Amino acid sequence: KMTVKELARAMNRDFDHVVEALLNTSVDVDELEPDSVLDQVWVKEVVSRSGMKFRWAKLSETRELQESQPVTPPPVVTIMGHVDHGKTTLLDSLRKSQIVATEAGGITQHIGAFSVQLASGEAMTFLDTPGHAAFSSMRARGASATDIVVLVVAADDGVMEQTVESIRHARTAGVPIIVAVNKCDKPQADPERVKKELLSHDVICEEFGGDIQAIHVSALQGDGLVELTEAVVALAEVLELKAEPDGLMEGLVIESRNDKGKGPVSTALVQRGALRRGAVLVSGRAWAKVRFMFDENDSVLKEAGPSRPVQVSGWRELPSAGEEILEVETEQRAREVVAYRQYLDEQQRLSEDQRTIAANREAHLQEYREQREELGHLSWRQRRRALYQKNKDAFALRPKEWGQEEADPGDVDGSVETLLNVLDSYDAQDECELKLIHFGTGDITETDVNLAHTFSGSVYGFNVAVPRPVQQVALKKDVPLRLHSVIYKLIEELQQELSLKRPPIT
Ligand code: GDP
Repeated sequence: KMTVKELARAMNRDFDHVVEALLNTSVDVDELEPDSVLDQVWVKEVVSRSGMKFRWAKLSETRELQESQPVTPPPVVTIMGHVDHGKTTLLDSLRKSQIVATEAGGITQHIGAFSVQLASGEAMTFLDTPGHAAFSSMRARGASATDIVVLVVAADDGVMEQTVESIRHARTAGVPIIVAVNKCDKPQADPERVKKELLSHDVICEEFGGDIQAIHVSALQGDGLVELTEAVVALAEVLELKAEPDGLMEGLVIESRNDKGKGPVSTALVQRGALRRGAVLVSGRAWAKVRFMFDENDSVLKEAGPSRPVQVSGWRELPSAGEEILEVETEQRAREVVAYRQYLDEQQRLSEDQRTIAANREAHLQEYREQREELGHLSWRQRRRALYQKNKDAFALRPKEWGQEEADPGDVDGSVETLLNVLDSYDAQDECELKLIHFGTGDITETDVNLAHTFSGSVYGFNVAVPRPVQQVALKKDVPLRLHSVIYKLIEELQQELSLKRPPIT
């Protein structure tokens, strides 16, 4: 739904244009005002009458962003490397070095990312989930949360499988690498060998004339961390990162969880604009009115700018990690966006269901055709018998559906048999042949209805029920359901239907 005014603006036309487009429709144009609300059908009608195409815009396209002077944001760094080469230890040391620096004195919370500030005032953000998982899941969603990859290689172990994998991930994402040659405190450490090994993977360190910085560190003892962070700052300068600090916020969900005290919280990495308390955010099918923002030391923040990781409370539901976060103007808008995304999901599920049903039906038809071919030499009567014998076990074993009482198979078998006997006497009519597509015991199912629909047939039921959902399918597909509890009445109706289908006498 949208107002006439909004529609006119979206189409780049004026109010009168919309009114004219609605002439000769059931809309009372005399009543139309700029703020009159139009239903989706009429919005689409106006658009098509104007020779334009209707398309749902992405949320990111519809927000009006104010232009602002870009600033240089702190670089966002992901640590990657082979298992046991020291990623976690390095992150811990970096985080600890920061506690001392900020004198926060508290325990740093694990919120998925943290900032490190150098004595020189330069800052950087480390994503706190080591390994490829986080990096890849973000990449899979097309989001790039990382500006720089720090590749950790243990000096006593050298280049290993996941080292090579990490290099490939970084390359694919177009993210530059800094090598942290770790465990240099170990007596058997051989940093030079590591750098030579890297050559064969096209990672050419500075001393070999390449442009990749390699820093010798000991994550365990905290050696070389200052050099490493300085290398990050130096590389960031070369990258000339830019971000707009004002206007509606854009960001990424780094992680999400239910916190005992704070409720559903997510860590957002701001990528554009500023995040403030009270902002309304949408992420996937979740939305929030930001109640509180905390940094990694659990201090309350008033505002967070680009590259700043913040824990946000106020989510109605938890957003998923890696998902984009967009700020919108109002709660109303957030609800609309979420409702629309849910609607899209449902449509998607529905069409998948339909595809499955269609595929099932095709399989069923195919099976039926094959069976018929096999029995092609027989008369209809014999064929029917044969089919029945063939499927008898399946019918008797049909599972309980819709809570239906388990029928005595012998008894039910008997009534199918009886019916078939009677139907046989109506066989072989010249002008119109009765074709029995399928028969069985138990309540009528959706498959029965689908099958009838495929063959433009009817479903006859004898002493059985039709569950409501199946009735609805039949109604929608225009498949007649004929239910009887007296055999001769069933036959009578069948006869009538047959005679109606007889070609007219000329
Ligand atoms: P990850 O699997 O890459 O996260 O590796 P971890 O950080 O868990 O480290 C694996 C092991 O290596 C642990 O036992 C660490 O204590 C040890 N380790 C990590 N860094 C160093 C280091 O600089 N020197 C030494 N000697 N051991 C280290």
